[in-house]
Amino acid sequence: MFKKIKLQLIFLLSIQVMSCGDEISTVNSPDTLETNKHYVSNRLPLQPSKLIKLPVGSIKPEGWLLEYLNRQKNGLTGNLGEISAWLDKKDNAWLSKSGEGKWGWEEVPYWLKGYANIGYITEDKEIIDEAKIWIEAVFDSQRENGFFGPNYAWESYIADVDRKNELEVKKREAIDFWPNMIMLYCLQSYYEYSKDERVIQLMTKYFKFQFEIQEEDLLSNKHYWARIRGGDNLHSVIWLYNRTGEKWLLSLADKIYRRTAPWTSRDHELDKIENPMRMEKRDGFEWPIWYTDLIDWHNVNIAQCFRTPAQNFLLNGDKKYLKATYDNFNIIREHFGQVPGGMFGSDEISRPGYDDPRQGIELCGIVEQMNSNEHLLRITGDIFWADHIENIAFNSFPASVSPDFKAVRYLTSPNMVMSDSETHWPGIANHGPFLNFNPFSSRCCQHNHTQGWPYFIENLWMATPDNGLAAVVYSPSIVNAKVGDNTNVSITNRTNYPFSDDLIFDIKTDKSDNFPIYLRIPSWTDKPKILINGDIVKSPIEAGKFLKINRKWSSGDVVELILPKNISVKRWEKNHNSASVNYGPLTFSLNIKENYVEKLSDKTAIADSRWQDGADTDEWPTFEIYPDSEWNYGLILDKNSNYSFEVIERDWPKNNFPFTNNSAPILIRALARKIPEWKMDEETGLVGELMDSPVDSNETDEFIELVPMGGSRLRISSFPVIKN
Ligand SMILES: [Zn+2]
Repeated sequence: MFKKIKLQLIFLLSIQVMSCGDEISTVNSPDTLETNKHYVSNRLPLQPSKLIKLPVGSIKPEGWLLEYLNRQKNGLTGNLGEISAWLDKKDNAWLSKSGEGKWGWEEVPYWLKGYANIGYITEDKEIIDEAKIWIEAVFDSQRENGFFGPNYAWESYIADVDRKNELEVKKREAIDFWPNMIMLYCLQSYYEYSKDERVIQLMTKYFKFQFEIQEEDLLSNKHYWARIRGGDNLHSVIWLYNRTGEKWLLSLADKIYRRTAPWTSRDHELDKIENPMRMEKRDGFEWPIWYTDLIDWHNVNIAQCFRTPAQNFLLNGDKKYLKATYDNFNIIREHFGQVPGGMFGSDEISRPGYDDPRQGIELCGIVEQMNSNEHLLRITGDIFWADHIENIAFNSFPASVSPDFKAVRYLTSPNMVMSDSETHWPGIANHGPFLNFNPFSSRCCQHNHTQGWPYFIENLWMATPDNGLAAVVYSPSIVNAKVGDNTNVSITNRTNYPFSDDLIFDIKTDKSDNFPIYLRIPSWTDKPKILINGDIVKSPIEAGKFLKINRKWSSGDVVELILPKNISVKRWEKNHNSASVNYGPLTFSLNIKENYVEKLSDKTAIADSRWQDGADTDEWPTFEIYPDSEWNYGLILDKNSNYSFEVIERDWPKNNFPFTNNSAPILIRALARKIPEWKMDEETGLVGELMDSPVDSNETDEFIELVPMGGSRLRISSFPVIKN
């Protein structure tokens, strides 16, 4: 008897000792008292890195994410070299030592940015070798003065006849730095993969060139895209400074910021806002005062450049620049982003009076927003940006690509019931077949889409200043990294997230060591739970913050994070009081029966598309999608969401690909009623605009099926609400 009690006592003591060693706390972001020993962080006098990027290849996708990357590799990204005229190796300015030749603008580096990284991530020799051809040509092309790449590249959408006009001829007097900004991203990834010192040498020499040229020649006003997008140039200068510490790079960074369009300023003069003056505003709408609060309203420019002031904050620590970035984000969402899916209804360019959920976002806008959020997560450590990455990646991005990843769509909207090859002007800005899935078309998106998933994968985990790791964005994956006292750790995240609530982290280390692991607790979650080796963590866990677990980790440790999902209805008071339905990080859309109709890709492409001779239209067809079921439903909402909604879980798809209506592992049955007067809009060929909710309907109650918005290529995800 006595023996037994003693044994129990020893057992209890050992548990206490184990848990005493664990320090578990809730933090807004990792503190920056230390500097990470294993990975390159911001160097003084820059503001310290809150989170630090791991080199490409450190994180490998698993599960559905691996399936997605394989589809991308076997689909358009992996085969674009045989389709796109810009990737033709004949007479290509990007392959020329002197920078002469055709096809020399943004397309090659856009494509290479994601294509090469897929090779590094999946260790695919064929892709790495192909990417190397383009990278080597960049090294070979560096001139005596430091410039590299194409000598002069016409913006690809400018027609041959227009190249002789005075304005275009004048533009040639100034250097267009924009295409090189993208190639610098490609070089950084190549360096992370290879440690090839030629990258450091090339970038140093190129930035010396930028440092020494006349102030007005850097990001000249003659080149619109370069001047607007200088933030990308700034990022690369900071990247190099962190590796070499050469102080003149900081002066160059200041110079680039001064030369970049003012993304911090408000109250611009209307005629200084270049793009919108070329677009027509809606009849009956005046230019609103708030329209002068951003320097540019092109959707990709906003998604890409709203972060620029926060990058400048790294240089000077002045928080007004950080605030300017948050303000930029809020200005576009306030006026054009009162819709689900994380993006904003801009079409190509945001126009006052066109803010219905039927307005779309460019695929380029989607991937650039994700890239910006990844930057901002590292700069601020603010979980907001991680939540937002997931919102876009799970709800908006998949629908802009065909399920087989063989074709892309230029514009995708929260409400779209037609995906055809017609022009929908003035409902959609601007003219062209923007809504079909065409592998030959949408020149910029056709090449720029590649970065979306590889960059997402590279940013699932980040290093922390205190030599730990942070799980910032969740998806099935494995991370390999150095932590603590030079310890190698490998963490497998077994999960079907965002479709499952459970995230299991299997930890392997080459020795037991103390280091922190930070887990992001998404802001949407309610009553999250964490177990370490089966023991429940009793410390309070707060949504919207990180849980920091500092302990001696050993091989075989298992952490289980449970993020229970609930149905919630978001009302968009500023967009006709419409409603969208969320279940955890997923937003749901009406299951519209999608009728795919095959078309010839060369006959349905946008005017600025170019493809190689022999590109096979049979192998690379275009698809239009038409609705084969009714879509004009309003939701019947009840205070008790159990009355209006029922969640139905289905088997996990055998092909591991959950992003189609047929394979969706979660459905929601919802109570609804038809709204007969909500019809197709005959003038524009688009879904009719929303009416103010609540809406009268005398139709009978019906159950409708909702599916995850990310997998539905035709969708109603902003619903009218039926008057009770
Ligand atoms: Zn685009």
